[in-house]
Amino acid sequence: MQPYVYQRRQLVEPDWRRFPGWHDTTREQWESAQWQRAHCVKNINQLRTVLGDLVDESFYTDLATDQAQHATMSMLVPPQMINTMVPDEITTDTLYADPVRRYMLPVASDRLTDWPSHPYATRDSLHEHDMWVAEGLTHRYPTKVLAELLSTCPQYCGHCTRMDLVGNSTPTVDKLRLTRKPADRYDAMITYLRAHPGVRDVVVSGGDVANVPWKHLESFLMRLLDIETVRDIRLATKALMGLPQHWLQPDVVEGLERVARTAARRGVNLAIHTHVNHAQSLTPLVARAAQTALEVGVRDVRNQGVLMRGVNATAADLLDLCFALQGEAGILPYYFYMCDMIPNAEHWRVAVWQAQQLQHDIMGYLPGYATPRIVCDVPFVGKRWVHMVTEYDRERGITYWTKNYRTSIEDSSMDLDRSYPYYDPIDTLPESGAEWWRKEHAE
Ligand code: SF4
Repeated sequence: MQPYVYQRRQLVEPDWRRFPGWHDTTREQWESAQWQRAHCVKNINQLRTVLGDLVDESFYTDLATDQAQHATMSMLVPPQMINTMVPDEITTDTLYADPVRRYMLPVASDRLTDWPSHPYATRDSLHEHDMWVAEGLTHRYPTKVLAELLSTCPQYCGHCTRMDLVGNSTPTVDKLRLTRKPADRYDAMITYLRAHPGVRDVVVSGGDVANVPWKHLESFLMRLLDIETVRDIRLATKALMGLPQHWLQPDVVEGLERVARTAARRGVNLAIHTHVNHAQSLTPLVARAAQTALEVGVRDVRNQGVLMRGVNATAADLLDLCFALQGEAGILPYYFYMCDMIPNAEHWRVAVWQAQQLQHDIMGYLPGYATPRIVCDVPFVGKRWVHMVTEYDRERGITYWTKNYRTSIEDSSMDLDRSYPYYDPIDTLPESGAEWWRKEHAE
């Protein structure tokens, strides 16, 4: 008997009519992007209407407490995503235990009481804003930039690493605002890229590009494709999974085909990067959206998930997800990021040694090219494979990492031999390590 046994599981669309609020919703409505957007759950009352009396009042109280005291993201969940929670019988207990619920609808009792936040957690933990070279354009790696076209998404994830900027303000987080008009912002990004031919790779993101009106997105992409030095374009959209209906709309598919054709003619690698964290989230409609993108000429659809306790941090969960992505949905398992050091995320974060163990445990089952790398995005460094640690203080949970380039905020005098720390969640440390942190932060 092997530690993991592969069994093919074909994708199924759970029956949305099991939710009292959608008992008479038709397939035509369900498959309409407009219907999905109009019926997104944005507050507890709307959730109550969907769930009816399947769930006890105590759950809603727990959710309300979380929103008032801990949540860094406001609530926004498309019906498509709610339907992937508890595919079978919904009860209070099954909803509490559900992996998709755990990150899309976090409740107060999920959070840790002793160290809900790491002492070094910060709002913009990757310092993306500090590295803006134009509003929304982060230049962190020598050859790559991240273009944040907008600060909204069709769905808000509780663990969002861009919680500083993305979504509506919450009772605990006053969000940063993009201040320039979108057209001016896009112009400034294009001007920067024209002036910096060393940048060859543009991640077009947000937020989620599914919220950029298609004609604006297409025009931005065509302008990028006019820059001869841009060779890779990646479109970041969790909506491919959260709202696949968007990517199946005829005007979007036709527009994507025009962009993909132009990219192919110019030899540019156009890919879609999506964000799926659990096999349950993959339905036939998600597979159809990914397949359609490939059919119209997008070169690849890849997944960048986030590794989270209670959601997917076991080898079996990761492998189930990767086999569903690779074998059933045509999406390449690419990365799993360790959850970043944002406030109130300690119950999701895993320690580096746990991530290393998971990387070890998933090797050898998937084709090599579809075996995802588990990466740690180390502040001021960038993505590192979890085995690239140079030093590890296991007692205090501090890892040290090095880098081989300078970010846009470091000048050439910056020493490349320096090492940078990253921190494990304190509840994963031995008692002596936890005691050290208690003393260190006693004041
Ligand atoms: S889709 Fe991405 S950017 Fe939007 S809330 Fe989720 S993690 Fe954040």
